[in-house]
Amino acid sequence: MKIEFQGAALTTTGSRHLLHIEDKTILLDCGLYQGRRKESYEKNKNFPFDPSRITALLLSHAHIDHCGNIPNLVKNGFTGPAYCTTATLDLCSALLRDSAHIQEKDVEYLNKKLARKKEKPVEPLYTMEDAERCLYNFHGVYYHNTINVLENVTATFLDAGHILGSALTAIDVKNGDGKGHRILFTGDLGRKDMPILRNPEIPSGVNTLIMESTYGNRVHGDIRLSEEKLGKIINKIYARKGKIIVPAFSVGRTQELVYCIKRLMDGRQIPRIPVYVDSPLSVNVTEIFRQHYECYDAPTRDLFLQGEDPFGFCCITYIRKVEESKELNDMQDPCIIISASGMCEAGRILHHLKNNIENPRNLILVVGFMSSETLGRKIVERAPVVRIFGEPYNLRAEVEILNEFSAHADSNDLVGFVHALNKEGDLRRIFIVHGEEPQCTALGNRIKADFKGDVFIPKTGDIFPID
Ligand SMILES: [Zn+2]
Repeated sequence: MKIEFQGAALTTTGSRHLLHIEDKTILLDCGLYQGRRKESYEKNKNFPFDPSRITALLLSHAHIDHCGNIPNLVKNGFTGPAYCTTATLDLCSALLRDSAHIQEKDVEYLNKKLARKKEKPVEPLYTMEDAERCLYNFHGVYYHNTINVLENVTATFLDAGHILGSALTAIDVKNGDGKGHRILFTGDLGRKDMPILRNPEIPSGVNTLIMESTYGNRVHGDIRLSEEKLGKIINKIYARKGKIIVPAFSVGRTQELVYCIKRLMDGRQIPRIPVYVDSPLSVNVTEIFRQHYECYDAPTRDLFLQGEDPFGFCCITYIRKVEESKELNDMQDPCIIISASGMCEAGRILHHLKNNIENPRNLILVVGFMSSETLGRKIVERAPVVRIFGEPYNLRAEVEILNEFSAHADSNDLVGFVHALNKEGDLRRIFIVHGEEPQCTALGNRIKADFKGDVFIPKTGDIFPID
């Protein structure tokens, strides 16, 4: 048996690892590589292996850097089953279509530019048709149900506590001598006490661990304080009759915020301020959250069983139509507008920022990671002037950062996870993936301090024998 690393090695995108067992290959995740446009296009288009030779795909969760290249995998000859949890399947159905739409629009824009230079047009990485076609290969499985992946190989999805449907994938391989080997792939590891989701599980008997390290060198704020802090911010802005503008990712962050606002309102800790979720994808994804109560933690499930909608309350409006979105521009009263994209690079959030960024009564609430070079990052750095749709705007609104909402385990969580997993001393080796180099190295060094087995930080293309 061998493990080959073909993505998210010393970087955080393009999650893709291959498990070679005799003459069969299992692919763990098939994410999109995200980075500079031309380089990512080539990397995503050309597979370093033959997709038709992959027997099965095990998918950890629906974030696009983990699932976003499945349409292309199927287009290039993969015919096997793609297993994931039932919630991941439904989220993929919405997100892969959305991704195809983005790919098609991007190429349309690029081809106009190429035509002016009399250069050859390019094709989208995949089309809407490809995205819809690949969904035929998906098989949704409930947590804890065992899947027969190959003869002598089974897989089980366990709670990862990262986003709705996210899973730790436990793969059990029976050897010829009757002994077994258990491999655990974390996908993205979440945190304890996240709103809505259950805590990450700790499976027993793991021998080989493939672990993410996005925040391998950072420690987050206490998630239990996030709701209290959010309440204080809302009260402050309500008192001065301002608006709160929140750029948020459609999957996870939007629903967590809505859920926390509902709890604060139910507990009368904040006034009945109108809340608008203004993004068609966020509205669709929230609908999927409503359908998958089997993924909820106890408090959210209790609420649901009492007949309450965790994502609905008196003052919330979900907006799909452009006209309704535009009507928000004329509103003068205090309100909260949650909109995508999360890094302020595209989408309706740009209109809301444009209309509200110059008023010092307003507040821009940052709840997610902002990559360098994005408008979101410039807002985080409080640049005095920012450009929106090519025009300069003075950043006069207040900016508040609530990083307690991160959906990734931090350095302490990751080290704690390894300790808990190795309680019985079964763990022999750890592969650290899905992190930039400083994060991987820092985490590796912390783990090596008291772990007796091997710790590897693989590079793209590395292959390791496993016994
Ligand atoms: Zn993720």
